[in-house]
Amino acid sequence: MTCEGTMLKVPEFWISNLDHIDRQAKTAGRAEVREIARSAGGRPLYAFAYGEKQIMKSTANYSSACGAFDRDCYVPLSGKKPVVLLLGAVHGAEVEGTAALVNLIHCLEEGKDLRGDENEALMKAAEAIRLVIVPVCNPDGRARLPYESVLGMTMKEMRYWFQGTWKDGTLCDYPRCKKVHPIKEASDHLGSYFNDDGVNIMHDNFFRPMARETQAILGLADEEKADFVIQLHGGGNCLNCLLPTHYVTKESLVAVHDLSVLCNERAKREGLAFTICDIPERENGETPPSFNLASALHHVCGAVSAVFESNQHAAGHPGAKLTHDEVYRSHLILFEELFGMASSRCRA
Ligand SMILES: [Zn+2]
Repeated sequence: MTCEGTMLKVPEFWISNLDHIDRQAKTAGRAEVREIARSAGGRPLYAFAYGEKQIMKSTANYSSACGAFDRDCYVPLSGKKPVVLLLGAVHGAEVEGTAALVNLIHCLEEGKDLRGDENEALMKAAEAIRLVIVPVCNPDGRARLPYESVLGMTMKEMRYWFQGTWKDGTLCDYPRCKKVHPIKEASDHLGSYFNDDGVNIMHDNFFRPMARETQAILGLADEEKADFVIQLHGGGNCLNCLLPTHYVTKESLVAVHDLSVLCNERAKREGLAFTICDIPERENGETPPSFNLASALHHVCGAVSAVFESNQHAAGHPGAKLTHDEVYRSHLILFEELFGMASSRCRA
């Protein structure tokens, strides 16, 4: 499918391709860079870590520590250096977060982002934490998107590139694309949601993971004893939304809600906004909400875990339509408030 000409001009600072991240991984001087896995299609997943890793002895995994009624058996919170894990492109075409993470890495490595901004306050906030960045969690899906940005695509074009088509050529669409999993054998054009085996990492089987990508992401959160794990997704014309995660503690939900409020207060001063979601009731119903990657990441290490949905400026579709600059700025607000919250929580 070729796109119909509504796409926004991509500014020079907006880079989200795998080759660029490959080069960043090879040239990074400040980060400790690790290939945490190869995707189903053989592509590397890189983790860039900044800030000293605190060696903390666990006597139990997170589940067992909770079973012992003593979280400290996993990791004591007092005296713990805060660890933030940022995950980009779990869905390969949702590259808004990846573009922001590529710039964040440039800033951490070279003292300025690709717009030439030093982002002083953000860099100061980053110094107080251990920050681990995976710019692309699903490189197979990212490789299937032939564009640097999707802003300005129509919703139909997004559906084609994101969820793909069935064997009869009709769009798999959202959320119907989740009715077959893994989807590979049922699809004609495989969407960027999926790795090369057709697995949607967001909905892997977390008690028996199918994808190496999923295993590596969960392993990283556990090894790092992450305090906050934020996945950066795209959410059509939604307005900067931190989604409540299902099957997690109330404290974790409240933290994400508070983070939304902080981000929104900050964003309003710049003519932007964040959506503030209500804290949901307990899960119920014949088909309950899914236990997804955000839920699993909480349960592997106790982290406050959430999905951030960025605006994607879907043309001809109702809702907010942000520019590349505004989308990027929204991510920087999120990062700065997140790093600040992580620092204050661990000091408490
Ligand atoms: Zn997504």
